[in-house]
Amino acid sequence: MVSSEAAPLAKTGGLADVVGSLPPALRALGDEAAVCIPRYGSIALKGLRRVYDALPVYLGVDRYDTAIYQAPEEYPFYLLDCPPLFDRAGFYGESGLDYPDNHIRFAVFCRGALAAARYLFRTEILHCHDWQSGLVPAYLRTTFSLDPTFVGVKTLFTIHNLGYQGLFPKTILPEAALDPALFQPNGLEFFGSVSYIKSGIALADALNTVSPTYAREIQTPEFGFGLDGILRARAGVLTGILNGVDYREWSPETDPYIPARYSAADLSGKRVCKEELLAEFGLPAAPVGRPLLGIVSRFTRQKGADLLMEAIRDILAQDVYLVALGNGDPEYEEAFLALAGSFPDRVRVRVGFDEALAHRIEAGADMFLMPSHYEPCGLNQIYSLRYGTVPVVRATGGLDDTIEEGTGFKFTEYSGAALLGAVLEAVRTFSNEPVWRDMMRRGMARDFSWKTSAAAYSALYRDLLTRP
Ligand code: ADP
Repeated sequence: MVSSEAAPLAKTGGLADVVGSLPPALRALGDEAAVCIPRYGSIALKGLRRVYDALPVYLGVDRYDTAIYQAPEEYPFYLLDCPPLFDRAGFYGESGLDYPDNHIRFAVFCRGALAAARYLFRTEILHCHDWQSGLVPAYLRTTFSLDPTFVGVKTLFTIHNLGYQGLFPKTILPEAALDPALFQPNGLEFFGSVSYIKSGIALADALNTVSPTYAREIQTPEFGFGLDGILRARAGVLTGILNGVDYREWSPETDPYIPARYSAADLSGKRVCKEELLAEFGLPAAPVGRPLLGIVSRFTRQKGADLLMEAIRDILAQDVYLVALGNGDPEYEEAFLALAGSFPDRVRVRVGFDEALAHRIEAGADMFLMPSHYEPCGLNQIYSLRYGTVPVVRATGGLDDTIEEGTGFKFTEYSGAALLGAVLEAVRTFSNEPVWRDMMRRGMARDFSWKTSAAAYSALYRDLLTRP
């Protein structure tokens, strides 16, 4: 697997959870899998083993000196080291701005990952994830097309989010050592620019997205980000495989981050989690019997931050409380902080990325809000189900595929009014305790573990190997 993130070492979102938990799930089925990510500045070299020294990557006339490290995971977990490119504060940028050399960074990364496949882990499948690994199929079809190491190797490109595309001006082609012949509408050209995600979409042997509904949605202009045409053209090799989740990390029975453990059979610990969460956020005066809404999210329009801002005043008129953790667009970070400033007794916000707090919110909240504009799969609503924290979601992508009547509340129209309607219904249901408890327990019993999804990937790999 070639990915820019993998838990536990490098995570900004769901991609990391998936790439961190799919390989062990595949191994449990008897498949071998390895992962390669960049060695970012936040990943200490201490604890890593240097397994390949002095690996020069040539992009045209430019030479990048790299090395490969291995992390002590239960499966081969490689990190491509190139300090001038990756030893930085962010993964993709800082202060809301992308690094200006991202086209080089992820070109070198793709070449380094291919070197890992050449020297350290011979593979039959290169499974690439999102735009950062989109050049792998391009290099295989051009630079390495006659290379015996890669003869017969197939590529699978997984789209975790079509909204992030890796778009660069045409002038980068030589800097990234990309064959000019690739620059065409059935290759990596996107309206005059170079698109790394389109490279993956156009050139991989097979494609998938992380839920069946999102696989359909991205073939429409509304969700296609201009790529719906090529996705429709490749519909024959495009499938949707719902992400699994790792219940070893996300279960209220065993979670080390939460103040009290609980289960569907004994929910008493959840109340403790709620009280502690209110106290942690400085809301001790909030009546514990009133609904506490939780949000853990990137603060972006994709996640419906604008809808929330539209509806929140009417929501708060219901005597409910909100705790939110997130970071992302500065505009929405400010909007969340301003909201907390306006409603200090009702709303508390933490801007940042905090894994432990994310767990405590999942455990301590009564309801979890995900009013996403689009959602390829979404993991938090699945975690919420397991924690008995009833999701209120917009019926799109994976949210629509994982939440049903009886386990959560869904609305369809992308409007503040529709969100408000769903929250009102949730608040009404909350006041009927037995009904609410049934709903919590139904959600807690739902199983989205990797078993099914890993088997689907395994079958897809096998199918790929039989294709010419
Ligand atoms: P996306 O990948 O689009 O951000 P997902 O729902 O697929 O959304 O996955 C989000 C993952 O990132 C979850 O594991 C969630 O708990 C985590 N996460 C998101 N924002 C934060 C944050 N600010 N602090 C801690 N964890 C976060």
